[in-house]
Amino acid sequence: MMRLNSQSGQSNTRKWHLWQVEPDLECNLNCIMCPWRGYRKQLKDDGIMDKAVWNSLVPFLKDVKSIDFTGGGEPLLNGNLLDWMQQARHHGCETGFLTNGLLLKPSFSEKLIQINPDWLAISIDGADAVSYERIRRGSNFDELCRNISTLSRLRISDKPWLMINFVIMESNADQLEEMVRLAAGLGVDQINVKQCDVIRSDFGKNLGIYAGEENKSIKRYKNYSNELKNLPEN
Ligand code: SF4
Repeated sequence: MMRLNSQSGQSNTRKWHLWQVEPDLECNLNCIMCPWRGYRKQLKDDGIMDKAVWNSLVPFLKDVKSIDFTGGGEPLLNGNLLDWMQQARHHGCETGFLTNGLLLKPSFSEKLIQINPDWLAISIDGADAVSYERIRRGSNFDELCRNISTLSRLRISDKPWLMINFVIMESNADQLEEMVRLAAGLGVDQINVKQCDVIRSDFGKNLGIYAGEENKSIKRYKNYSNELKNLPEN
């Protein structure tokens, strides 16, 4: 993320460093560790952020350095997302969002590129269809890969900076190395690894690899790390 600051060339005189604007809480997937399921059940409407809310924020955009359009749902389900990002860019804000990527169709990506956002992160927690679709229920690995690869090819510069967010769990920790290969093949610039247990709510509990107690996985990773420390330096 530090890169974003250096890319923008903005001065640091803006009053707010970062706003998180949540376009919606709805989602087209049903991931095994989704922390937002409980919240969704309580919604009276469809969880899509109203235009009126955004309009009330617009007068302040000139004082905001960066806006993260990520919420507890899939941002692309809000049909106003591109317009809002464009307005934010117009006021000189850095922009980006985290998506599950399934709706990132080429037609959407073409419009997105015109807005020139600074970054985009896509959630992928498995390097093959079986592992990925077991976690990201309702998604389609091949379609997702096509979407990412098209977006990467459409870029005219290194913007948006493309990242993969990988939620690490006991069941997919062994996929990390293959994930790096997949990311490179898709034209992705960076992988962020996020521990599942830091996700709010009970849905991700016991899926992470670093629990409060020293379980088998922790012992195994401790051993790896000790072995690495003892490797002779070249
Ligand atoms: S993509 Fe994100 S918001 Fe949607 S179900 Fe999965 S974890 Fe939840």
